[in-house]
Amino acid sequence: MGNWATGVTVVTSIGPRGPHGMTANAFLSVSLDPPLVLVSVGKENDSYAIIQSSGRFAVNILSADQEALSLRFATRRADHERAFDGVPYVFGPGGQPWLEGALGCLECSLQRAVDAQDHTLFLGQVTALREGAGSEALVYFRSHYTKTR
Ligand SMILES: Cc1cc2nc3c(=O)[nH]c(=O)nc-3n(C[C@H](O)[C@H](O)[C@H](O)COP(=O)(O)OP(=O)(O)OC[C@H]3O[C@@H](n4cnc5c(N)ncnc54)[C@H](O)[C@@H]3O)c2cc1C
Repeated sequence: MGNWATGVTVVTSIGPRGPHGMTANAFLSVSLDPPLVLVSVGKENDSYAIIQSSGRFAVNILSADQEALSLRFATRRADHERAFDGVPYVFGPGGQPWLEGALGCLECSLQRAVDAQDHTLFLGQVTALREGAGSEALVYFRSHYTKTR
């Protein structure tokens, strides 16, 4: 799978300890009408339980200069409440964190959770979106970060 070049997202949600984020590249557009997207989340990740119980999440598509955010939200940590320290974000209309500087933010309401062995496929209906000002995307390829162009 390392040979599959992808963009990089941070899937945000609101857990019992506040804003939560998880780096994810298993993300795709599924349907246009209604607008549905899918993220695949490992069951051992805290994001799994949070999205299952809250029924909401946001997908933040990272821009080329947001590699540090990707690393930050891919790190297992016990102090999740500090993960957003110094990270600029606002709340979308549905209350999910939208990261400033992202190329795009999609707020979703959970439509369906499909069991997939050690992962769960979360299908979300897009309820709000925002396009950022950036023009270059962060890209993940063979375990390294690069960017478009
Ligand atoms: C480019 C990229 C793409 C990725 N794409 C995906 C993807 O599509 N889907 C996906 O599921 N993951 C993906 N990951 C991995 C994911 O970002 C990480 O596993 C991330 O840490 C999950 O965050 P979380 O907060 O949901 O879970 P975490 O809280 O980070 O991990 C959950 C578990 O770890 C435990 N834990 C907390 N701190 C520690 C510690 N110090 N030592 C040991 N255990 C601890 C927690 O108690 C909890 O049980 C990707 C990573 C990268 C770099």
